[in-house]
Amino acid sequence: MRPGRKAHKPVIFTPHEECGVFGIYGHPEASNLAYLGLHGLQHRGQEGAGICTSDGKQLHVEKAIGLVSDNFTEKRLKRLPGYAAIGHNRYSTAGVSAMKNVQPIVVNFSLGSMAIAHNGNLINADQLRILLEDEGAIFQSSSDSEVIVHLTAHSRGESIHQRIISALNQVRGAYSLLILLEKELIAVRDPFGVRPLSIGEHDGAYVVASETCAFDLIGAKYIRDIDPGEMVIINEKGVQSVRALNSTQKAQCIFEFIYFSRPDSNIFGGINVNKVRKDLGRQLAREAGIDADLVIPVPDSGMPAAIGYSEESGIPFDLGLIRNHYVGRTFIEPKQSIRHFGVKLKLNPVRDLLEGKRIIAVDDSIVRGTTSKKIVKMLREGGAKEVHMRISSPRTIGPCFYGIDTPTRQELIASSHLTEEIRKYMTADSLAYLSIEGLQSVVPDPDNYCYACFNNFYPISFPDERLHQMELFSA
Ligand code: AMP
Repeated sequence: MRPGRKAHKPVIFTPHEECGVFGIYGHPEASNLAYLGLHGLQHRGQEGAGICTSDGKQLHVEKAIGLVSDNFTEKRLKRLPGYAAIGHNRYSTAGVSAMKNVQPIVVNFSLGSMAIAHNGNLINADQLRILLEDEGAIFQSSSDSEVIVHLTAHSRGESIHQRIISALNQVRGAYSLLILLEKELIAVRDPFGVRPLSIGEHDGAYVVASETCAFDLIGAKYIRDIDPGEMVIINEKGVQSVRALNSTQKAQCIFEFIYFSRPDSNIFGGINVNKVRKDLGRQLAREAGIDADLVIPVPDSGMPAAIGYSEESGIPFDLGLIRNHYVGRTFIEPKQSIRHFGVKLKLNPVRDLLEGKRIIAVDDSIVRGTTSKKIVKMLREGGAKEVHMRISSPRTIGPCFYGIDTPTRQELIASSHLTEEIRKYMTADSLAYLSIEGLQSVVPDPDNYCYACFNNFYPISFPDERLHQMELFSA
C-alpha cells in the first residue's frame, strides 16, 4: 500500500451481473455465427452486447447498448473479419455506466492482444482492484472482470496460459470465461463450476457457449461441458485440456435450472432444463397438492412447472393469463393517470377460463413478492373464485453474490416474513413453496449445487471485508 492511502477505503459493492458468453474458433464466418450464438443467449442479458474477432493478426471489436439483433447489422458484422470470435451479452445493473462495462474487454499488453468475456461474479474483485490500483493499474470500467485482465498483465508466468492461471488463482467467485488471443481461443470455468459452459462442434469449427440453446440455433453439436477448474485451449493444433485450477467441490447454480437458463438448454452435464422444471412442478404437486379446478402458469417463467404440476395432480392445465410479448424494457412509465395499468400491459386474464373456478397459479420463484400479488389480484378480477399460489422453488432468503441479479436481503420478502405473512400480503387463498429437500430430490447429484439463495449457505467463502458487507445485507 502506498503511503498516504487510507487503510480502510470503502469497498465498492460490485453489482451482480447476469451474462451469456459465446465463442467460436476455426470458421470463416466467425462473426456471423457469434451474432447468432449471442442471439440465442439473449435471455441471459439484454442491456449490451459485444463481439470480438481475430483474423490471426489482430483483434477487431464492436460493442453496443441494447439487443444483439437491434445493433449488430450486416454492415457492423462486416467490420469483424476473422476465423475466431468471442461474444458477450450483458445485463448491467442500473446506475452503472453502461457502455464502459459492455464486454468483451480488449487490451494490448506485453504478450500481445487479449479479449475476455466473463459470465459470473467475482467476490474479491473490489479488494484486488484496490491492490492493483496501489500498484499503478488504471481501470477503464467498474466491471469485476477487468481485474482478471490486470492480474494477467501483472503476473510473471512465461506463457500467456501460465499468466492467466496465475491470475485466476487470485480471484474468487464465479467465472465461465472466454479469452480470445490473436491465434487462440481459451475457455475456463471456475473450480466450483458455478455457471454453465459447454463446448461443441460446428462445420469443423469449435464452439463454446453458456447454454446449448446457442448451439442448436447454429446447428452445432454438443460435445461436453467444460469441467470446473478446466482450461480448454483451442488453436490450429486442435483442442487441449489443462487441469488449470484445483477443483475439490462443485457448486453449480441451482437457480440456472429454476429460472435463468432456457428450458431447451441442457446444462451441468447435459441435463435438460425443461425436464427439471417439469419435475419440480410434479414434486410441488406431491408436496403441496390442493383441490382445484385449473392449473395455470405465470407466463413465461412458471410454464414447465405448471405442466408438471398438472400432470402429477391430474388437474387440467390451461393458459389463464396471456402475455403480451411486445412490452420492451425500454417502456416509458405512463403518466400518473394510467400508471395503475402496471402488469396489465404485460399480462391479461382469460375470463372465459377463470370465471367461477378454483385456480392454482404456478410460478418459479418469489423475489420481492410484487409479481405474485399482482397475479392474484388479476386472477380475481378475471373471475377466479379461489387463487392458490404454488412456487416451484424454496423460499428465496439470500441474495446471490455469484452472478444472479437478486435484490438485497431486506428486499427479499421471504428473508423476513413467514409464508403465512406472505400469503396475506399477496391476498392468496393459499401459498406453498417447494421444500429444499424436494428440490434436491429432482436434480441428479444434488450435492454438486449451490443453494445459497435458499439456505444462506455460501459455498465460496468471502474475504473478510465482504463478510462485513453481507452483514449489512442481512435481515
Ligand atoms: P417478484 O415480483 O420480485 O417476487 O419477482 C418474482 C418474479 O421474478 C417471478 O415471476 C420470477 O420468475 C422472476 N424472477 C426471479 N428471479 C429473477 C431474476 N434474477 N431476474 C429477473 N426476474 C426474476
